[in-house]
Amino acid sequence: MTIVRDSFYINGEWVKATSNDTLEVTTSGTGELYATIPAGTVDEANLAVEAAASAFTTWSNTSPKERGEYLMRISETLAERSDEIALVIANEVGMPLKLAKGIQVGLPIKTFSDNAQRAMDYVWEEEVGNSTLVREPVGVVAAITPWNYPLHQIANKIAASLAAGCTVVLKPSEVAPINAFLLTDIVDEVGLPAGVFNMVTGLGHVVGEAIVAHPKTDMVSFTGSTRAGKRVMQLAAEMIKRVSLELGGKSANIILEDADLSKAVADGVFKAYLNSGQTCSALTRMVAPRSRLSEIEDIAVATSASFMPADPISGSSLLGPLVSAAEQQRVRDYITKGIDEGARIITGGVTPPEGLEKGYYVTPTIFSDVRNDMTIAQEEIFGPVLSIIPYDTEEEAVTIANDSIYGLDGGVWASTDEKAFEVARKIRTGRVEINGGAFNIFAPFGGYKQSGIGRELGEYGFEEFLEVKAIQHN
Ligand code: NAD
Repeated sequence: MTIVRDSFYINGEWVKATSNDTLEVTTSGTGELYATIPAGTVDEANLAVEAAASAFTTWSNTSPKERGEYLMRISETLAERSDEIALVIANEVGMPLKLAKGIQVGLPIKTFSDNAQRAMDYVWEEEVGNSTLVREPVGVVAAITPWNYPLHQIANKIAASLAAGCTVVLKPSEVAPINAFLLTDIVDEVGLPAGVFNMVTGLGHVVGEAIVAHPKTDMVSFTGSTRAGKRVMQLAAEMIKRVSLELGGKSANIILEDADLSKAVADGVFKAYLNSGQTCSALTRMVAPRSRLSEIEDIAVATSASFMPADPISGSSLLGPLVSAAEQQRVRDYITKGIDEGARIITGGVTPPEGLEKGYYVTPTIFSDVRNDMTIAQEEIFGPVLSIIPYDTEEEAVTIANDSIYGLDGGVWASTDEKAFEVARKIRTGRVEINGGAFNIFAPFGGYKQSGIGRELGEYGFEEFLEVKAIQHN
């Protein structure tokens, strides 16, 4: 049965959409209609910003403890409803259900509780000479989010900004929005004061641009493509608004000659394929020693064989479909482009996986002999496509890793952590994992170069939503 949502959340209430325009959400595994949501107008976006602006003075003066208690209740309710939310995300995004529960719902539960605690523990004032430094919330935040880890990206912004004392208007992705409606149901249930959190769904160039450009919005926290991020930054520049941008990536995974190849390559393939490659920090370029290229190719092909796509709800694979028909076509076009530019396919290709004609599936694909100036090594593909790029010297490996407009993440594999650490220091990205170091939700996440501005998660992510005032005294 199709899910129908027809209202926005403005000033503490569900408000029916004024226009009859709706947007369709499809089930990624089957291509069938999954839900419809209302397409917001500029007027509705403006109402939501006005509500957030009216609520700001009161909310920013609540105690951190009070704000923390609301956030803790949101975290607890998310945990209680995690099966239902994971199922929604497995349907609308296509991540296999088990992974969706652990990652897509598991991370937001932790992010809300972490920010609850952070608000309570944070040192809000400090003395510097004859000044008292006072941290204050930045104001009304426009939060705009994408579809690939939809609730995680919403949580990163909402939990931190509310903990800081800001009020918010959320514009979630129109591609995978139902999880945002469930979160909003929870916000309503825990009784957050009216206007503190508002949500309007719709198109980026309508609702997104309206909340960015509104004179009462003080900050824009955006996650999405570099293309839309540039537009957001231009609009925000008109009023010198603070922007935090989490954009695209093309992360390199350097495997040094002495690394344990079976671990390094298997982990690298998994990190490239996670969420069907629709991960901004995916390790999509495997920078491999030419002297061991054929061994690496063999392990990569064998690993890839264990990632045959299957239905995200009923299947047991770690790989599901892509999010939409448009993404599926875009990724296939990149595979064709890789072949045309002379890269060598060692597994996969444009032919869709057998028996999965209905959903948005792409056969996981690995190219070898990729040169870093090829399109598939430079542009974000956002699909289960890995490029193996051979190198001859360690210096060349680092040069290849850094030869990108992006700078979000990276990996280094070596026989010792010390050696991997030494190379990690040379990589110009916001994160690097060495020898398979696990994702850390308390450490800052964000990009160098065109991967963005600012950081999310942990204390750095929280402080993005704070101003600092210096009060001089005698
Ligand atoms: P997108 O840029 O198309 O959309 C992201 C959001 O921005 C959506 O809510 C969309 O409606 C809105 N939007 C689009 N145009 C806008 C405009 N002109 N003004 C205001 N808002 C606008 O991105 P997507 O396809 O949803 O997501 C995929 C992209 O997100 C990839 O490039 C990926 O790398 C990036 N991403 C980055 C991170 C990170 O943390 N760095 C995390 C996840 C995804």
